[in-house]
Amino acid sequence: MDMKTDITRLVRANIRELSPYSTARDEYQGSLGVFLDANENPYENGYNRYPDPRQTKIRERLSEIKGMPVENIFTANGSDEAIDLLMRIFCTPGKANIVAISPSYGMYGVSAAINDVQLREVPLREDFSLDADSVLAACDSQTRLVFLCSPNNPSGNALDRSAMLRIIRESGCMVVIDEAYADFSSQGSLRSLVKEYANLVVLQTLSKAWGLAALRLGIAFADSSVVKLMGMVKYPYNISKASQEAVLKALEQPVDGQVKVIVEERGRLAGVISAMDFVMKVWPSDANFLLVKVEDADRLYEFLIGEGIIVRNRNRVRSCAGCLRMTVGRPEENDALIAALEKYSKQRKG
Ligand code: PMP
Repeated sequence: MDMKTDITRLVRANIRELSPYSTARDEYQGSLGVFLDANENPYENGYNRYPDPRQTKIRERLSEIKGMPVENIFTANGSDEAIDLLMRIFCTPGKANIVAISPSYGMYGVSAAINDVQLREVPLREDFSLDADSVLAACDSQTRLVFLCSPNNPSGNALDRSAMLRIIRESGCMVVIDEAYADFSSQGSLRSLVKEYANLVVLQTLSKAWGLAALRLGIAFADSSVVKLMGMVKYPYNISKASQEAVLKALEQPVDGQVKVIVEERGRLAGVISAMDFVMKVWPSDANFLLVKVEDADRLYEFLIGEGIIVRNRNRVRSCAGCLRMTVGRPEENDALIAALEKYSKQRKG
């Protein structure tokens, strides 16, 4: 199916007809010296003027780093903003549904609930692999978005590329691939495919590998028509000037070295932890965390807190019974985790 011609039918009618707010900065972008158009305080303090509503410099820099045209890049206040914008652009409250794999990132369901959109969860297989047939079977004429997360949070595995491609080609819906953890994976990104498939949105973020979680900068790669829609629906000044400046500066410092260490440490941690007597399974990970199945997850979780270490308890999440999710830290933090786990093991026996 050629989706290029077809996505407008997926857009909510009121959004298709929206006349967006036009900011003073949108209307005039020349180089005049006297700005009396935006009711700002004229006394300069570094922040008295509204910031660039399109984040042009960041998008240009991301275009170089990611090898994607600027027109295919939307920058958001974290990928969480992008998730919510997609919900509001494509899903009519009380009518539309979304399909998401399970277990996966919780915000897809929360954003759906806030927008009064039904969530249909499709379980991953027992090994957390993607079953394209079940996802396709869950889609109907009211499904607008399909959320796939690769590498997936909390399971850590990258999803099969051909299964994702089948869903993009056959679902007839917008397919959102959340690649928040892609920088830690050897499986390549699907972002370049947005040039081919107008129904594909690939989400990335500067919160993980780039180490900029506090700045709130998420990225959506999409067809230029979808980028335009997201620009129409977002708050006019969604990313502050302080964030934009700090992000631009940070993007000049490559993080490859840190990512390499984190990936090595992931391997070291997985090896050591999987040999421990109370550990039933360490799931293979393409991300910066490990999902670890243990004999008594709640007890170990509390023990680690007593040792000053907080991990994420996933014991009550679907298909994750008995599991804790452990982020890979700096080598010395990982040493502290290992030491605490060894202490736990000894204490259990004693
Ligand atoms: N997607 C996934 C899969 C995540 O795990 C997270 C953060 N935990 C996000 C998106 C949110 O990222 P951001 O900080 O860009 O909002």
